Amino acid sequence: MTQPLPSPPRHAPSPDAGRHMMELIERLYPLCRSLTGEGNRKTLAVLAEQVDIQTHEVPSGTPVFDWVVPPEWNIREAWIKDPAGNVLVDFKDHNLHVVGYSRPLHETLSLDALLPHLHSLPEHPDWTPYRTSYYQETWGFCLPDRLKAALEPGNYEVYIDADLQPGHLTYGEVVLPGSSDEEFLFSTHICHPSLANDNLSGIAVAVQLIQQIQQMKRHHTYRFLFIPGTIGSITWLALHTDTARRIRHGLVLSCVGDAGFPHYKRSRRGDALIDQAVAHVLRHGASQHAIQDFSPYGYDERQYGSPGFNLPVGLFTRSPHGTFPEYHTSADNPDLVRPEALADTLSLLLDVIHVVEGNATYRNTQPMCEPQLGRRGLYDALGGANDRKERQLALLWVLNQSDGEHSLLDIAERSGQPFHMIREAADQLFACELLAKEGGT
Ligand code: ZN
Repeated sequence: MTQPLPSPPRHAPSPDAGRHMMELIERLYPLCRSLTGEGNRKTLAVLAEQVDIQTHEVPSGTPVFDWVVPPEWNIREAWIKDPAGNVLVDFKDHNLHVVGYSRPLHETLSLDALLPHLHSLPEHPDWTPYRTSYYQETWGFCLPDRLKAALEPGNYEVYIDADLQPGHLTYGEVVLPGSSDEEFLFSTHICHPSLANDNLSGIAVAVQLIQQIQQMKRHHTYRFLFIPGTIGSITWLALHTDTARRIRHGLVLSCVGDAGFPHYKRSRRGDALIDQAVAHVLRHGASQHAIQDFSPYGYDERQYGSPGFNLPVGLFTRSPHGTFPEYHTSADNPDLVRPEALADTLSLLLDVIHVVEGNATYRNTQPMCEPQLGRRGLYDALGGANDRKERQLALLWVLNQSDGEHSLLDIAERSGQPFHMIREAADQLFACELLAKEGGT
């Protein structure tokens, strides 16, 4: 009996995946997203061309735990004219020029009165910072420090044509049912305007994941949330407390397209299967990586991991937020994102899914000393495979550890072998009735 060669340990996405993700990022980049508003709807409409996404609208004023869904913000035009009447800063050149959630305004101000409303980055004088003021009504502009430093005294005309009034919070959701109602959640934020790595990279990888998962036979039901940060996850959790209880594994995706190496922040539980699975995949699939313990700071893992939910949801990034100089500035543009980094992230996440889908616990049906593997053709099955010794060891590890207490992932970890090798050994032993299934994950 000849067994097929093992599937490759890395789930290589199609060679075009990186390019498709870059194209999506470049297309979404100009849209002015925020917590709410038309930019978010347009973003979800673009995603709807590629995946079957449901768009949900939650009215402003809806109470969600200790929060309230905010008014909807839409902006059409904004600029500052200098004392000579020249346009100094214009929203239509870059949407980062206006502080997110700025109130409407049309005034003429002295330079001294204007300066407190201008934000810049002296350490990067050519970059425009990203600023918002969601929960305190104000207005402001962001601009390169080189421009701000050159302003002359005089009267400046300031115009912001925006609405801040009752509307809706918009979010997108994709559900891919599995054979079980146990859920695997992927969550990514959609509230950042023209920023590429922080925001758009997570959206692009999530879309590719959906396209890959929908072709897979799957145990878990996969849920993807495209939500504004913080208020979006709070809103979803408040409206879906029962559904949330079905989440067995989850990952928040952000900053997944830069050239940095992968970072994983564990879920609040720290020892959940998702924590174990991501650590395993990174150890075998990423030469350089870092794993950090949970902290209640960062993205929506804070909400999923609040004590009332305590869901096993970790944070997957490449360079973590706040650690790269381009973070929350105009330099976080599509040039910062690399198609090969996006493809590597996608591949690692598919490996994580493979582990979580394939993990199970077995019981050795012949536990009194080792069964004869040769008699069952199991040594022959290893054929001329060049990793014959590792495959033989994998069989012995699975037999030895399958006492109903250790999952295949536990065995992979203890043996130092990659999960796929242990999974294949278990399949062979199960086919020979040397293993009986105790439970899946
Ligand atoms: Zn951000």
